[in-house]
Amino acid sequence: MSIRINQINKRFKDFVAVDNVSLNLPEGQLTALLGPSGSGKTTLLRIIAGLEQADSGSIEFHGEDQTHQHVSERGVGFVFQHYALFKHMTVFENVAYGLTVKPRKLRPSKEAIRKKVMDLLELVQLDWTAHRFPSQLSGGQRQRIALARALAVEPKVLLLDEPFGALDAKVRAELRSWLRRLHDEIHVTSVFVTHDQEEALEVADRIVVMNHGRVEQEGTPEEVYDHPANPFVYQFLGKVNLFHARVDQGQTRIGELQLETPHLSDAAQQDGLAYIRPHEIELRADNSAGDGLHAVIENVTVIGHTVRVELKADAAPNPITAELPKQQFRALGLLQGDEAWIKPLNSKVFLK
Ligand code: ADP
Ligand code: MG
Repeated sequence: MSIRINQINKRFKDFVAVDNVSLNLPEGQLTALLGPSGSGKTTLLRIIAGLEQADSGSIEFHGEDQTHQHVSERGVGFVFQHYALFKHMTVFENVAYGLTVKPRKLRPSKEAIRKKVMDLLELVQLDWTAHRFPSQLSGGQRQRIALARALAVEPKVLLLDEPFGALDAKVRAELRSWLRRLHDEIHVTSVFVTHDQEEALEVADRIVVMNHGRVEQEGTPEEVYDHPANPFVYQFLGKVNLFHARVDQGQTRIGELQLETPHLSDAAQQDGLAYIRPHEIELRADNSAGDGLHAVIENVTVIGHTVRVELKADAAPNPITAELPKQQFRALGLLQGDEAWIKPLNSKVFLK
């Protein structure tokens, strides 16, 4: 089921929670709604589900208008941050629940339900927990059961609202790659809400970056990470360094360094900022090539096989962070307090 979101608006009193959002979410893909807290992600998800009415706009599933369909008629499955498993039911009963409450005519036979539940428990790799109660499972296991329960009714659309938000970092990371693999197996059209850029980059086929109820950018993880459309997306998707830039008809200079910036070819003389990610900086111990920016090393931190170097650069308003493989840094022979030269490998300039 593809999902089409047409000009959705939603206010709470004077507060605009969703601001004219239009999106096409392709069939079978896992789309992440990514944005800071309060950016309208949950509200938009609830509108897709039919749990919340939009003030205006429409929602279509596979070309069919759902705007006035009740939540129970939309065929959506949910998983929320706080596991909503029934405490007094076993894992088996929890997963079977959506099937057992179907009207008699639509309800599968007892045997069919048993098979379906066991297949799903196998899919989430928890078949051995069938007779346990939720209190006997870890947080990560409960979320996998919640997912199995959501899938039991064969939803057309799966909606996940920060499903791993309450778990600790290690379990989250495990469940992320697990969800990615699971989605590759089942291919149900899914929308995944998160405020965690790493989670979105790892799990999603497409990312929709939201801020203040609006869509800032949408695209594949590569597109939004490598080609952020604006400063907000740049900063939200990862650490970034800023350098003073001077733009003049498509030519841009950071300090003495010339950059090609064809996207700014119309801009008259103007100040801008160049955005450069920590791994897009090459460090040099001298400036014999003549294309480096002068800096002084303030701090060096080894993090596993990566080195994080903090520098004070003449052309930058704030301290700069460079990240490079440990071997590469060691080969430069640079130490804290040394002069170094920064060569940007990739950058994007935005006008001030
Ligand atoms: P997110 O999921 O991105 O954190 P939400 O969609 O939950 O954002 O909320 C967006 C904004 O709308 C928040 O500032 C929140 O306070 C407000 N909001 C959400 N639901 C309600 C509600 N039922 N009544 C009033 N304000 C709400
Ligand atoms: Mg939310």
